[in-house]
Amino acid sequence: MVSALSLSAVALSVNTAVAQDYNASPEARKIAQENMLIDTHIDVPYRLTEDWEDVSQATQRGDFDYPRAVEGGLNVPFMSIYIPARLEQTPGASKQLAHQLIDSMEALAWRAPDKFAMAYSVADVEQQFADGKISLALGMENGSPMEGDMANLKEFFDRGIRYITLSHSQSNHIADSSYDLRRQWNGLSPFGKELVKEMNNIGMMIDISHVSDDAFWQSIELSKAPVIASHSSLRRYTPGFERNMSDDMIKALGENGGVIMINFGSTFVTQAANRYRDMLKQQIEQVKEQYGAESDEAKQRIAELEADNPFPFATLEQVLDHIDHVVKLIGIEHVGIGSDYDGVGDSLPVGLKDVSTYPNLVQGLLDRGYSEADIKKILNENLLRVWREVEAYAAEH
Ligand SMILES: [Zn+2]
Repeated sequence: MVSALSLSAVALSVNTAVAQDYNASPEARKIAQENMLIDTHIDVPYRLTEDWEDVSQATQRGDFDYPRAVEGGLNVPFMSIYIPARLEQTPGASKQLAHQLIDSMEALAWRAPDKFAMAYSVADVEQQFADGKISLALGMENGSPMEGDMANLKEFFDRGIRYITLSHSQSNHIADSSYDLRRQWNGLSPFGKELVKEMNNIGMMIDISHVSDDAFWQSIELSKAPVIASHSSLRRYTPGFERNMSDDMIKALGENGGVIMINFGSTFVTQAANRYRDMLKQQIEQVKEQYGAESDEAKQRIAELEADNPFPFATLEQVLDHIDHVVKLIGIEHVGIGSDYDGVGDSLPVGLKDVSTYPNLVQGLLDRGYSEADIKKILNENLLRVWREVEAYAAEH
């Protein structure tokens, strides 16, 4: 999608809010602490493969560690077993990495059994919440480890995976991707259609984040249980960005009984952030063309361009707009949190910079008139309802 906005328009839209502007009240902190808080997408496992730190202690880097999770009131992070799309080209590579990432989460729980415990069911997260432990639940981001063999669904279910994001940044053997112009299946592949049914039967939540629109509609049509979007936001605020959900899709998700878990990454939240990199790149190309790619003049002007156009971080208020709009469309029962912490680099909104900041979100909801009962739905009840229904369907089939 070609943008009509100029860079100066992006610069003007930079919000000047700073982190200190957000200071959750004791009431908001209490709500975050006393209620179970579920976040369905945190990329700790892959982060640690690139830059290991002991997240059972305070860490220097990243968005998640135990002390910050406790401060923020986080109880159930779904740790993302993220498999880069390119691995599908090498037989066995996706499965290999998936097992290793799961091992790493088990090791974390084993190293700090007073702080963390693996979670495989609604009953587990409820018990561990009562015990004061953080539940490590697992979601697989990219179904490529299925490798076209239904036996792998069982294998990874048995290892604790409780949702599968059908595809990631490229079309895979299951589903087309929103980020990939190649639409080899026009939605789901024949195996993908079988997989959706088997995921229902085994009790695996179907995650439609990342897939193409056609793959979303086919999944909704086929699934006998509610589905989730583990970390998606609203296309209304990022026109043309297929990775986010349109109003029509959100309405269908509501009818399906599912839930959209809102992604905090600025590029998912505002058009300015979403288009920032493309626009800056375009301007840089123009400068290179005009002054010669390697000239000192070009280097100087590119440095100026970058300095004059810092990344336009979204704000907490803009994240709240996404929640409000879902509520307006399909009610309070179908929205939750899928932050993408540790998965979106330095692009998080002002006021929501890491897992210690959920109380700011609660404060924002209170300020907008949400009751504590409504906030509880967003923090845990909506996702738990879907998870329970998925468990119940599997128990009967
Ligand atoms: Zn993702």
